[in-house]
Amino acid sequence: MAKILVLGGGFGGVVAAERLAEQLGDEHQITLVSRSRQFIFYPALVRLAFGKCDVDDVSFDLRNTMLNRRVNFVEAEVAHIDPFERKVSIAHGQVEGKLPYDYLVFALGRRLATEKIPGFYEHAHHLLNVDKAIKFGKEVKALDDGRVVLGQCFGARLPVPVYETAFALARHLEQNGRRDRVRITVVSPDTLESELRDAAGAVALKKALDEHQIEHLPNFPIVSLTQNSAITHTADAIHFDLLMLVPPFRGSSAAHYMGVTDNDGYVHVHATMRVIDHERIYAVGDCVSFSGPKMGHMAVRQAEVAATNLAAEIDGRGPISNYIHDMRFVIDEAGTDGLYLHKDIWTGEPATVKQGRFWSWAKHVQQRYWEAMHS
Ligand SMILES: Cc1cc2nc3c(=O)[nH]c(=O)nc-3n(C[C@H](O)[C@H](O)[C@H](O)COP(=O)(O)OP(=O)(O)OC[C@H]3O[C@@H](n4cnc5c(N)ncnc54)[C@H](O)[C@@H]3O)c2cc1C
Repeated sequence: MAKILVLGGGFGGVVAAERLAEQLGDEHQITLVSRSRQFIFYPALVRLAFGKCDVDDVSFDLRNTMLNRRVNFVEAEVAHIDPFERKVSIAHGQVEGKLPYDYLVFALGRRLATEKIPGFYEHAHHLLNVDKAIKFGKEVKALDDGRVVLGQCFGARLPVPVYETAFALARHLEQNGRRDRVRITVVSPDTLESELRDAAGAVALKKALDEHQIEHLPNFPIVSLTQNSAITHTADAIHFDLLMLVPPFRGSSAAHYMGVTDNDGYVHVHATMRVIDHERIYAVGDCVSFSGPKMGHMAVRQAEVAATNLAAEIDGRGPISNYIHDMRFVIDEAGTDGLYLHKDIWTGEPATVKQGRFWSWAKHVQQRYWEAMHS
């Protein structure tokens, strides 16, 4: 019998646990550890902020869902991992002390490094969790006029919700007869092309922004904030009345002492998703050290690869699946249209870019499918 610990109850951890339960016999014990019982469907948080869905539509209870799949659920905060003793230290929660494992899947996502941007806590909104999305939504409702600045900091690696927020805001203001009183500006630390990693995608997105009278300000890496200004390292400043900013991301601190992380704290893995230089440990999702944006569909695919190879390893076989780092996303233009982009990041081949109402609809269907599979 093997004891398998899966750390993290996001896309990566949930799919890894589900696939392992499908592939391994009942004699093996699978346990999912996460700090919260709630799974959050992050791609729907922009819709939540704009009142297009409820909290119940974007979350489900992990304990019940996991039990249905023969996976134990433990609500606890992971402090760190000792790969030599094969133990996970728990800081607090439903269990205390150290949890032993034979095999580990590390899927603790990323950390928001708000401390890197002085003034972030006091002056910026973000929508990277349920409470913050609702709070930002309230500010939007109260907004009468002025300038809204939306953007990401250097190292944020999450452009999709920034652009979706810009489109949703433009539509909300149009519907409320206030569009001509509010200026919307999206700031990027880089160019649009490097943010999307594709020239054709950048052209299509710029055209959509222009159609909605949304300004785009490239090469504007925000390093600090005051009450109404966002400032770059060259002291350029932009005034705002309301700011939504994605802070820099860093890897989970629980991996720090394993000696397997890059400068930003992300875990080095092989294409098999096994952690480099460590036996019996796999890592998946936002926590891994791959280039480009950090996205849910990547976490899902990596989890499938890791589960297949881990099950093969338990069976005494070598790895049989490799991850291919491609990027697929839909930027929902608030229901009116959607921009779909698919690109293989490792080969760098030009992306497939498509646009139309279908893509916006497809994104909502995908959310409902995920909910139906887990409720
Ligand atoms: C607003 C928003 C919109 C997005 N839109 C899209 C989109 O349109 N398309 C797309 O593909 N992706 C999108 N993403 C990105 C996507 O949600 C992430 O890439 C995905 O959630 C990563 O999954 P993960 O399992 O690696 O990490 P997470 O989902 O972050 O899960 C990590 C889990 O680990 C738990 N955890 C963390 N630290 C600890 C600890 N120390 N102890 C115990 N538990 C811990 C957390 O509670 C969480 O359950 C969006 C993200 C956001 C925030």
